[in-house]
Amino acid sequence: MRPVTDRIETLAVHAGAEPDELSGGVSPAIQMSTTFRQDGVARPRHGYEYGRSDNPTRRAWEAAIAALEGGTHGIAYASGLAATQNVLYLLEPGDRLVVSDDAYGGTWRLADKVWKRYGVEAEAVDLRDLDAVAAALGGGSGAGPRGKPARMIWIETPTNPLLKVVDIAAVTRLAAAAGALSVVDSTFATPIIQRPLELGADIVMHSATKYLGGHSDVIGGALVTSSGDLAERLHFHQNTAGAVPSPFDCWLLLRGIRTLALRMERASANAAAIAAWLAARPEVSHVYFPGLPDHPQRELVERQMRLPGAMLSFELHAGEPAARRLAEATRLFTLAESLGAVESLIELPAAMTHFSVVGTALAVPPGLVRLSVGIEAADDLIADLAAALAVASR
Ligand code: PLP
Repeated sequence: MRPVTDRIETLAVHAGAEPDELSGGVSPAIQMSTTFRQDGVARPRHGYEYGRSDNPTRRAWEAAIAALEGGTHGIAYASGLAATQNVLYLLEPGDRLVVSDDAYGGTWRLADKVWKRYGVEAEAVDLRDLDAVAAALGGGSGAGPRGKPARMIWIETPTNPLLKVVDIAAVTRLAAAAGALSVVDSTFATPIIQRPLELGADIVMHSATKYLGGHSDVIGGALVTSSGDLAERLHFHQNTAGAVPSPFDCWLLLRGIRTLALRMERASANAAAIAAWLAARPEVSHVYFPGLPDHPQRELVERQMRLPGAMLSFELHAGEPAARRLAEATRLFTLAESLGAVESLIELPAAMTHFSVVGTALAVPPGLVRLSVGIEAADDLIADLAAALAVASR
């Protein structure tokens, strides 16, 4: 049974793909049935009973993402946040959760606005600071939620939108020593760039809506683990809470990952070219991009990431009004939320994707511009930004 290699480019094309049993079709069949005939009472012929519990197309997608992440269990959800919610079901009232202080705003909103009501205390910490991580995991000594060891640490790396890079091996080691579960939101990196399970994480999480889907046409989420115990508990909640993806969405995600390696390579190269160009522009005050030679975590980036990724953020000397004019002036970069698809996108996180964390510890600079760089010709993207910068500077 395939795959016969662990090279990620080959896995991306073949993982979870078995020619259709009935027709030999190379593209997997989309099995839309919500229920499955049984041979006798409680005796399903092929192991499938009901579409919420399991489905052949979903199973293929789950096998594929598990193989790509080097894990043994993939569990699929209807969105990235549904995947996050299902991880948080592992917590109990009174548990403490440590979260990247620059995590996706929706992750913090779920922890702080929903789980807090059920007695889970979340604390935002800059996970680049290993002393702060150790203190937060151990309970620390300050006021607020501290006082007892954390049950879970939520690592996002690179972070959205400031592209902070967290040392996964170091933080998961600290978490294991403190008895906390470690989860890595690896949405920005994908398994092409980093594989958190190999670095000690218990669970890797994806908004599959982004690079895994890759075409801005499917909302999805996924978890991967190599722990049988965690997989059992996650599968229980997947079925019990029911936030599952449709068979068609699973098929779209399977199709998306077939080109993942190529897309990540091209988009990362484009992003590196754009970051270098922006860094040399007099209008630009700061560029946040893991691939820049003067990135403060250069050594870690080289050790942990195979490519710099295709997300970057920057600020202008002229501040927020100019940033707004810039984002409204691009023509190739579409002004839109989300990221990770073939087409390039531009947005202002403080006013758009991260509006829900304005005024919290996770607030981002109001004039920050975030780019999701796609796979177009880099020169066309740079020309688009140059024209928009000229408009913004008027
Ligand atoms: N994690 C990150 C890093 C994200 O950027 C997002 C969405 O933007 C999510 C999680 C949530 O995923 P979804 O929108 O698929 O629910």
